[in-house]
Amino acid sequence: MTTTVGILGAGQLARMLAQVGRPMGLKFIFLDPAEDSCAAEFGQHICADWDDEVALRQLAQLSDVVTFEFENVPDTTARLIESLCPMYPPTRALFRSQDRIREKTMMQELEIPVAPFQAVSSRPELIAAVEKIGLPCVLKTRRFGYDGKGQFVLRFEEDLERAWQEIGDHELICEGFVPFDLECSIIAARGKDGQTVFWPLTRNLHRDGILAISKAPAFDQELQSTAEALVQCLLDQLDYTGVIALELFLKDGELLANEFAPRVHNSGHWTIDGARTSQFENHLRAICGLGLGNTRNSFRALMFNLLGEMPDYAKQSADQQLISGIHWHDYQKTPRTGRKIGHVTVCAESEAGLRAKAAQLAAELGVAAELNLEAVLKD
Ligand code: AMP
Repeated sequence: MTTTVGILGAGQLARMLAQVGRPMGLKFIFLDPAEDSCAAEFGQHICADWDDEVALRQLAQLSDVVTFEFENVPDTTARLIESLCPMYPPTRALFRSQDRIREKTMMQELEIPVAPFQAVSSRPELIAAVEKIGLPCVLKTRRFGYDGKGQFVLRFEEDLERAWQEIGDHELICEGFVPFDLECSIIAARGKDGQTVFWPLTRNLHRDGILAISKAPAFDQELQSTAEALVQCLLDQLDYTGVIALELFLKDGELLANEFAPRVHNSGHWTIDGARTSQFENHLRAICGLGLGNTRNSFRALMFNLLGEMPDYAKQSADQQLISGIHWHDYQKTPRTGRKIGHVTVCAESEAGLRAKAAQLAAELGVAAELNLEAVLKD
């Protein structure tokens, strides 16, 4: 019997889940209010709002299992689906990740190191929080922040008022600024039976709050084990099923958690071409109750996010295979400034090979200087 997977959201993450899942014999049905959703070509698309109860009931009725591609699924939507049909990851993980205070409080309770933080809901609370945490610090909205949106670095006293004017009408969190050496993320998958697998700790570089590059492998076994232990605490506490991503800062050899995402993650896109089993396949395997696949690298891999519009070079390179081991992913989204519209992953057997291909590609894409690729590839 064919298993049908329902997905809340029909953007690129849903699209990549379906691209991997269809050859596995799975069927897909998406619910998303956007008419031009890029996953829709891979299954049935229910075009409806998140609070459309009739549509949600239809999704649950047609699905054997439901998952989601973004963490801002409204509470009532998630609860209704969960009451009608199995849904993974569990809502307790979803709700924790939706609120930065609840998320960080849980991590603190689990003794996962995090920067100092304080909830802020008034001007006096902001002043008190900054006094306690000290400058520089980071002021963020507690909910609905993504890709660096809704956040300000406060360096000087005068920054407080400017930030308050911009986001003071939201519930906020004030966090200590982490002068990190670099950023990384650990992605894990946990099956219904508790089987857990981890991909290699991935090094990430952000530009303007948006992920620009991910590289794996990039770290030694000791750091890998430390990161695995941190994410394992979350998985156990949440009795989790599916893929989870934990974003981390590395400072003086120590890992500090920033946030977790209860879903497949942009920093794991390299696993499609660079790992034996991708994050997308293992997420589907986990939520469908199948055994999990091997997560080891099959190649050294480096992923570039493509923002705005697909470069012409992508077409040329795809057509003519100008450089072997380069895998283009076009999400078929309408171009828009700053929008994630695709990614490209460079794969190589050796570090030197990866460096050469990545440098060539970065030059072709015109991002070599901006991304300081040498620094990412050096360590
Ligand atoms: P977030 O929305 O929390 O994922 O933040 C987006 C990016 O902003 C992170 O990947 C970091 O580059 C930066 N950032 C967020 N929080 C902090 C912090 N407390 N200290 C330093 N940089 C931060």
